[in-house]
Amino acid sequence: MSETAPGSDGRTPADQPSSEGIGTRAIHGTERGPDRSGPVVAPIVQSATFFGGRGEDPGRLLYSRYGNNPAQAALGEKLAVVCGAEAALPMASGMGAMAMTLLSLVEVEGHIVASRHLYGATRKLLESEFPRRGIRTTFIEPDSRESWLRALERSTAALLLELPTNPLLRVFDPRPAADVAREAGLPLVADVTFASPVNLRAHDLGITLAVNSATKYLGGHSDLIAGLVSGPAERIEAVRGMMKLYGPSIDPHAAFLLDRGVKTLEVRMQRHNENALALARWLEDQPGVAGVSYPGLESHPEHALASEILDGFGGMLGIHLSGGGEAADRFGDALSLAMLAPSLGGVETLISQPRHTSHIGLTPAERADLGFPDGFVRVSVGIETLDDLRADFASALAAAGP
Ligand code: PLP
Repeated sequence: MSETAPGSDGRTPADQPSSEGIGTRAIHGTERGPDRSGPVVAPIVQSATFFGGRGEDPGRLLYSRYGNNPAQAALGEKLAVVCGAEAALPMASGMGAMAMTLLSLVEVEGHIVASRHLYGATRKLLESEFPRRGIRTTFIEPDSRESWLRALERSTAALLLELPTNPLLRVFDPRPAADVAREAGLPLVADVTFASPVNLRAHDLGITLAVNSATKYLGGHSDLIAGLVSGPAERIEAVRGMMKLYGPSIDPHAAFLLDRGVKTLEVRMQRHNENALALARWLEDQPGVAGVSYPGLESHPEHALASEILDGFGGMLGIHLSGGGEAADRFGDALSLAMLAPSLGGVETLISQPRHTSHIGLTPAERADLGFPDGFVRVSVGIETLDDLRADFASALAAAGP
């Protein structure tokens, strides 16, 4: 499909209050002026269905699986503004958003070119599930325009990138991929969960469809499962078409929590960014730490690029413990403030080991090949008081041993 329709680059249309900051948009959405009616806080719309059904335009029928009940629709409009996109569709999970997005683009016998640095479940979707539906994927090292170009086939229907990557925090430049995609008339899909719309203006960098696990930073409190895709209205409607068939629309209560969470997104991200940078710098000098993966450190392979394209380096970091997997287990057990749990992006600090969680399906050699051998601990740095976090990590490092 070619990218010729107005607004098809996924940017905010001209009639949006585009001069407003993301903090304002995340609170007020598109509502303006003294004549706003209704409650200050958007209610939970706990109704499956709505009056209608006399043969009117089927597009106007409200039904919560269609994602068009008043709360779902208002949330989608607000999130579009927050993401700087023409449209956005909240869904039941990040994986739901990713699967529906890709299925809206690729048909049987279709082909995807994807970065090989992907969240474990996304990789499994492409590697094991989509082939059952006749969809193939070529995985590439997404570090140059040539890598993307070389992998294109006649049946290629989408390019897929993740940035920063889970769990190594690699930052690959989306612009070469976006150029290749545009020249080939293809969409570039990117999972930007780790950055959130605060740290990365995905659509300004040429990403056609930006996917977020809203379970993470957008929700921000580890109390909901949700996903989001933003981009050109026409493409979002195609994703909605898939969602209506497969069914992963957002639940009313999750929609309420997501709307509430996103109001504090900017201020939370600022604190995540500050805490993680300070903790990463401190960790680099600690005994037993062989290295720290964090885009804000000069030792990070893409630090210069990250400084250029990110507005903050994010709350995620990786610790490489020199004592290997056993030291990592001891480290996790000794933490008292940070919790061992397989998610990220909430206000509380969480740690996990990909070998036990997101990348459990890979062999140790495959994980090492991706850059995180056993001994790697992923940290989702929360917004606690920094001194308390440092103290907790110091005693856990002492317990982990050299
Ligand atoms: N993308 C990334 C980068 C993730 O880390 C995750 C979950 O950890 C997902 C997508 C999937 O999100 P969800 O659990 O909301 O389906």
